[in-house]
Amino acid sequence: DAYLGAIDAANETFNAYVAVTHDKAREMAKASDARLAGGQGGELEGIPLGIKDLFATEGVHTQAASHVLDGFKPRYESTVTANLWADGAVMLGKLNMDEFAMGSSNETSYYGPVKNPWRARGSNVDLVPGGSSGGSAAAVSAFLCAGATATDTGGSIRQPAAFTGTVGIKPTYGRCSRWGTVAFASSLDQAGPITRDVRDAAIMLKSMASVDLKDTTSVDLPVPDYEAALGQSVKGMKIGIPKEYRIDGMPDEIEALWQKGIAWLKDAGAQIVDISLPHTKYALPAYYIVAPAEASSNLARYDGVRYGLRVPGKDIIDMYEKTRAEGFGREVKRRIMIGTYVLSAGYYDAYYVQAQKVRTLIKKDFEDVFADGVDAILTPATPSAAFGIADQDMAADPVKMYLNDIFTVTVNMAGLPGIAVPAGLDGKGLPLGLQLIGRPFEEETLFRASH
Ligand code: GLN
Repeated sequence: DAYLGAIDAANETFNAYVAVTHDKAREMAKASDARLAGGQGGELEGIPLGIKDLFATEGVHTQAASHVLDGFKPRYESTVTANLWADGAVMLGKLNMDEFAMGSSNETSYYGPVKNPWRARGSNVDLVPGGSSGGSAAAVSAFLCAGATATDTGGSIRQPAAFTGTVGIKPTYGRCSRWGTVAFASSLDQAGPITRDVRDAAIMLKSMASVDLKDTTSVDLPVPDYEAALGQSVKGMKIGIPKEYRIDGMPDEIEALWQKGIAWLKDAGAQIVDISLPHTKYALPAYYIVAPAEASSNLARYDGVRYGLRVPGKDIIDMYEKTRAEGFGREVKRRIMIGTYVLSAGYYDAYYVQAQKVRTLIKKDFEDVFADGVDAILTPATPSAAFGIADQDMAADPVKMYLNDIFTVTVNMAGLPGIAVPAGLDGKGLPLGLQLIGRPFEEETLFRASH
């Protein structure tokens, strides 16, 4: 009731939820009470969570914040949310996001932008919460849920966490099942939690993660008790500082934040080493070939026949065209166009195949560093603090918006785990985040060091 009341009072301001499931929340909470009374409670018993609109929730609004999925209520539950409910969690509703998770500011949503609960000191300018999991980050930051599910294809958990002073972890590719999560770029997509602190993230990820016969890319490894890693010393841990992340034009504040993070870990007994990840500068352009290529294929299914919106036409082709023209927003159309272009005959070898080769090199950069004994890599999470809604520069040039992902996409290209943790405020009082990148399936190391 407290959370539902908070949502009812504040959601008009923040636009974090696209659907609030009052009845279902109360029903689930009652069932939870009954289990607790019977001495049965699960690890997340009664914990009220917000769910990104990308996760299929049975009988409940699931539209990936797109017009094209109007009215879609799946008859099945995503594996990640099913895992959370099995541990006793309660669903408060579905959270706003960039349309089909394409964006870094939550401004591509069919439901309109989400407002960041934070503002610069003395300013009344509304800021973006980051994206694509902007609703998840804003809801956690504004106390509109105890934790939220999110997804990260190229930074969409870590960048919004950094912009809202929350914690977000993208686990290793394969740690969480992608079944029932609306697909954007299948070889990059991974679910993870956004929470108020590292401990909550550890608890929530343990519940979300599982091998799943319905997703052949999920991995059959035991899910460790991540909470047990908290409080362990980082003494002797080898932390790499990649020189390629010191990009041109990086604000002094971001450099200062990075130095502060280095000093914290050093003081705690970690060994700091300079490392090189030489192919870093190719990660962003390669990502913006691979991700749209996969998206153009995944989004072919929205044809007005199987789900959601249908705009009538004079024949079936006309109906497809009208449905897709009206159903998709500008950014989604841009991605479909880029993806179709790079996959078409004549360009496939020049762009797509090259990008895949670059991806292998990026992965190898990390493998080399880990082979040298590095346990985790410390970088800033984003090149700036949160920016204003409807930022003129970014609206005029989509590539400027893509630059937000510069520190985060490498991790998706290599399939590695990455966590963003709040690390202080900038000169205007806005939250900034640091990122730790780990070896495959060693999320425990990230929890231990970030805690
Ligand atoms: N900002 C990136 C994009 O628009 C990442 C999105 C994501 O991680 N879902 O592709």
